[in-house]
Amino acid sequence: MNNHIDLFPRIPSHWCRKDTSKEYLEAHLNKEIMYRLYVEYCQEKQSKPVSKTVYKEAIIKKNIGFYHPRKDQCWCYNYKENNDEGKSTAKTKEEYELHIRRKNAADEQKKTDKKVAQEDKSIICANFDLEAVLNCPIFFAKPVFYKRKLAVFNLTVYEVASKQGYAFLWDETNGHRGSNEIATCVFKFISSLPRKKKQLRLYSDSCPGQNKNAIIACMLQYSLSKHDGLEIIQMNFLEPGHTHMECDSMHSTIEKASEYAKIYVPNDWENVLRLAKKKGSPYKVNRITYKEFLNFKSYKELKMPNVHKATDLTNLNWKNVKCLLFKKETPNSMFVKCEYWDEFKEIQTNLRRGRKSSTASTLGPTIYTSKIPINQKKYKDLMELCKSDVIKEEYHDFYENLPVSHNDEDDDESSDDEISLQAMREKMLSKRRK
Ligand SMILES: [Zn+2]
Repeated sequence: MNNHIDLFPRIPSHWCRKDTSKEYLEAHLNKEIMYRLYVEYCQEKQSKPVSKTVYKEAIIKKNIGFYHPRKDQCWCYNYKENNDEGKSTAKTKEEYELHIRRKNAADEQKKTDKKVAQEDKSIICANFDLEAVLNCPIFFAKPVFYKRKLAVFNLTVYEVASKQGYAFLWDETNGHRGSNEIATCVFKFISSLPRKKKQLRLYSDSCPGQNKNAIIACMLQYSLSKHDGLEIIQMNFLEPGHTHMECDSMHSTIEKASEYAKIYVPNDWENVLRLAKKKGSPYKVNRITYKEFLNFKSYKELKMPNVHKATDLTNLNWKNVKCLLFKKETPNSMFVKCEYWDEFKEIQTNLRRGRKSSTASTLGPTIYTSKIPINQKKYKDLMELCKSDVIKEEYHDFYENLPVSHNDEDDDESSDDEISLQAMREKMLSKRRK
C-alpha cells in the first residue's frame, strides 16, 4: 500500500505556502481516486487490498496534502463566528479589524479605478495573475496519473474597461515561474498599450516571490520610461485572502474549456486558450520562448541597488507595501504606500549608499541563452509514456527532443513548477460521471 502511494509524483511546495514539511500531490487527485487506482493496482498484482479507511489513514500518516490554489477561503470568514462562540482563534481582534479595513480599502479603490477607466479612455485599469500550473500531457488515462509531466505556465492579464483578456504562455523548458518571467510578460503588455493611454492602474495579489518585489518595481519604472504615451503607472497589491480578480475568472474559463480536451503538447494548450471564451472577444494569446525573457533581475541590481529608505528615512519593508507609484516627470523616484489610506512616500531609486549611482543602466541581454533542461526523472517518465504509446507517436519527436539535465541531483524542488491544475480534479470527476 505504501508502495502504491509512493507511485504518485510529488509537487514541490509553493512559494506562498508555509508548511514545507508537507508533501503535495497533484490537484486532480484525491483520496477517493487514489483508492480506486489502488484497488486496480492490487488486482493487477493479485494481492488483497487494504480497506479504504486504512489506505486514507496511510496518506494522512505520510503527511501528504493535495495541492489547492492559494485562493482558498480566508481565515476571516470564520473568525467572527468563532469569536462570538468564545472559541479560541489564532488572530487577535485588532488583527481582524485591520485585515477587514485593508480589504475594504483595496476593494473600494479597485471599484473606483474600474469606473474611472470606463469613463476616461486615457486611463487603463488591468489586473494580472499566474495561473496554477498546466500539465502536458493531460487526459484521462491511468498511466498519466503516476507520471511526472511537463509544466506549462500561463500568466493572464485582464483589461477591465475593454474586457479584453491576454494570456502569456510558456513551458518549463523556456522559463521558470519567477518574478523575472512575470515582469517580462507585464512589460510586453504595457509596451503594447496605445500612445493615447496616459495612466495605467494595475492590480495583483501580494505574493512576494512573484509580484511584490523590487524586480517588478524596476520593470514598471523601465516600462514607463520606454512608453511614448504613459505618464503614470500605479501598482496596487490586494489584501491576502481577498485577491479575486477578473484575470482569475479567465483561469476558470480556461480550465472549463480544457475539461474534455486531450492535451499532448504545449501547442494544445495554446489552442484551448484561444478557443476558451465562448462570448465576446477571444483571449489574445502570446507564446513566449526563452529568447524573450528579459533580465530584470540584473537590471534591478543596477537601477535600484538600495531601495530601502524613503526620503523621510522610514525603512521600506516590501512585505508591507500596498501601492507603488511611478511618474514620468520624476524618473528616479518611486512612491510607496504601506496602507491604502496613507500618503505616498518618495524613495529615490538611483542612490547607492546615499550617493547618486553612476551606473548608466540599460536593460542587458535576455536572461536565458538556451532552453532550460528538465530533470532526468521527469524525462524518463515522459519517455515511458511515449514507449507505451499513451502519448501518440506523432508527438514523440517533441518529447524526445526536450533538453535534459545531466545532473540527476536536479530534483523537483529546484524547479518549483509542478503544481498542477486544480480544475483537473473536476475534469477527472466529470469524466467519471460520463
Ligand atoms: Zn480575510
